[in-house]
Amino acid sequence: MPRTLVTGGAGFLGSHICEYLLEKGHEVIAMDNLLTGAVANIEHLQCEQFKFIKHDVTEYIYCAGPIDYVMHFASPASPMDYLELPIQTLKVGALGTHKALGLAKEKKAVFLLASTSEVYGDPQVHPQTEDYWGHVNPVGPRGVYDEAKRFAEAITMAYHRFHGVDTKIVRIFNTYGPRMRPKDGRAIPAFVPQALRNENITVFGDGGQTRSFCYVDDLIEGFYRLLMSDHHEPVNIGNPNEMTIKELAEAIIRITGSKSKISYNPLPVDDPKVRQPDISKAKSILGWEPTVCLEAGLAKTIAWFEKNI
Ligand code: UDP
Repeated sequence: MPRTLVTGGAGFLGSHICEYLLEKGHEVIAMDNLLTGAVANIEHLQCEQFKFIKHDVTEYIYCAGPIDYVMHFASPASPMDYLELPIQTLKVGALGTHKALGLAKEKKAVFLLASTSEVYGDPQVHPQTEDYWGHVNPVGPRGVYDEAKRFAEAITMAYHRFHGVDTKIVRIFNTYGPRMRPKDGRAIPAFVPQALRNENITVFGDGGQTRSFCYVDDLIEGFYRLLMSDHHEPVNIGNPNEMTIKELAEAIIRITGSKSKISYNPLPVDDPKVRQPDISKAKSILGWEPTVCLEAGLAKTIAWFEKNI
């Protein structure tokens, strides 16, 4: 039975990964300091093959016994979180990635880094391909996340090249699904509760900025295929279905049958104007592409929010 450590295992993506790995027959250790994660996300996973360790991965990671895979997902990951937790965001991307890589080296484990489309910044190449180096403001409010993940990619490649660790890097584009925190400041977990309560939908700017949203189940399948591949360079995983934020707000109003109206609010600093993954690489090397359309994914997400807010 493969034994896998998931850092950030009690977070939105981490908890879905733990669930998926248990279904695949892995023994799973979820590690989380619960800064933005929550025990409620993993309560339903309790079984003999699953263990939760409360630990801050910026400190030395001790883990008894063999580990076959390390999936490093610990990090604040929404714009509001990294505005409120700038130092922790930098520390987990830098020191936390160093510790998680050190553990993978020690255990001879395969290592997968959760990186982000934020490494492309406010992109001048569209859609974004993996060979684009990005357009990031290092000293802006988002710099703490973007630069931490850029450092994390650099140290991951260094451990691969210098120490021979079997590493993978996934660049994750916008995602959504059950267990997103309602107040994390991101568009979908903001808009869905607003629509369900018939409150104004708080679109930032004129809503003309674009994003491409991938349902969480599709994303996790992509992570697993990358983990099992022999590819070491970064791979984009996301849904290329690009839309404006205004179109997203209108879709959520329509699907929920809400009476909400759109209200226009100031655009956050350095908010990227466009974002869309080029997933040719994931298609060719992993045989992966998303299968869940926005309507179906939103329906499942809305159903979860209805139960949980
Ligand atoms: N956004 C918005 N209203 C909100 C939250 C977000 O209009 O209440 C916008 C945000 O400015 C951005 C887009 O929606 O242009 C996606 O934001 P999110 O935080 O989900 O992800 P990211 O900016 O990291 O892509």
